[in-house]
Amino acid sequence: MTRWRYAAATDTGLVRQNNQDAIYVDDHLAIVADGMGGHAAGDVAATMTIDVVRGEFGARANVEGLFRAIERANQDVLADASTNPEHFGMGTTVIAIGLTEDAQGVVSPTLVHVGDSRAYQLRDGALRRLSDDHSVAEEWVRMGRLTPEEAAVHPRRHQLTRGVGVESTIAVDVMSLEARPGDRVLLCSDGLSNELDDDTLARLASAPSGLDEAVESLIAAARAAGGRDNISAVLVEFDEVNQAAVPVKRTISSSPAPVAAAATTRPRARRRARLTWRVWAAALVFVGVGIGFVAIVHWYAYSTYYLADDAGTIAVYQGQPSGVLWYHPRFLLDTNFSVSQLTPADAASLRSMASEPSVAVALNVAATWHQRWVSGHPQTTTTPTTTPTTTTIAKG
Ligand code: MG
Repeated sequence: MTRWRYAAATDTGLVRQNNQDAIYVDDHLAIVADGMGGHAAGDVAATMTIDVVRGEFGARANVEGLFRAIERANQDVLADASTNPEHFGMGTTVIAIGLTEDAQGVVSPTLVHVGDSRAYQLRDGALRRLSDDHSVAEEWVRMGRLTPEEAAVHPRRHQLTRGVGVESTIAVDVMSLEARPGDRVLLCSDGLSNELDDDTLARLASAPSGLDEAVESLIAAARAAGGRDNISAVLVEFDEVNQAAVPVKRTISSSPAPVAAAATTRPRARRRARLTWRVWAAALVFVGVGIGFVAIVHWYAYSTYYLADDAGTIAVYQGQPSGVLWYHPRFLLDTNFSVSQLTPADAASLRSMASEPSVAVALNVAATWHQRWVSGHPQTTTTPTTTPTTTTIAKG
């Protein structure tokens, strides 16, 4: 059997206009929620979270039920914020102890926690912090980027990395408490823990005068220290306490909330649509560049002509003598001028296969070469007896 006595109080503080903290405690559940959001939205998120956790845990008072209660609160806060514009952006921390029953029927205290509200255990006047703050500064301490002293004054110490109503999934720290009769556990919002140092917290929360007096003195001390935020404290003292047969200490992440999942489906669809559009555009550009490249290569490959020896006669070819990529020169026509009837210099020019700008120029060159040879051999008649033959069959 596990039994506790309790006391609780919440206070607006000296600076804030309203109280966005919410608290709850009974014989088997203790909760502090510190709401965030404009106007009264933080109060809505905190109150809604407490109502949901009470209802869900009342229906299933075990570790699973306690975690599912936080998960459900997250879904409900998100759903409410998505349908009420004035609640947009609201959220809350939550820290709770539930007396959970295990499969053997043993009831023991379990702590669940999201955000920067805190739990402290008090034994023999000493104080031990049970929860890690889910804040940027404290995450940096755990990563070794800041010392605890630096984190305590860091400007991002209030910026939360987790909260109820922040994302469609929520990660909840779940821990079985190891307590003895006489131990106290203090749950509080940061309006208390920011104003009072550990020694003061330990001294006031452990005061033997009684739980109600202890809570009152904690609130009064936080107000006296500045009261810059809403101040909440829930203090329980165990009269009897069992330990969980299989203690739990881990972070449990939820599956996506249906409402938020629906909300995130549309952007994903848009992202897919954009992706498809971009893929098609890239493909078109790629094809266009490819076609342009082929056209340029084709033009370059067949933009010139040259003369060459074709089995003893001078022929006109179109293209580059050595070809361009997969484009080989084309045989166009045979001039019927004999290669053997060339001066040595013109024979060398033929072998060089120099480029000519057109078929007509190439024919002129061939005719000039032939005429030059005839001029040096006046007794020889070698004028072509046939007109040039033309074909477009490509020669490899
Ligand atoms: Mg606060």
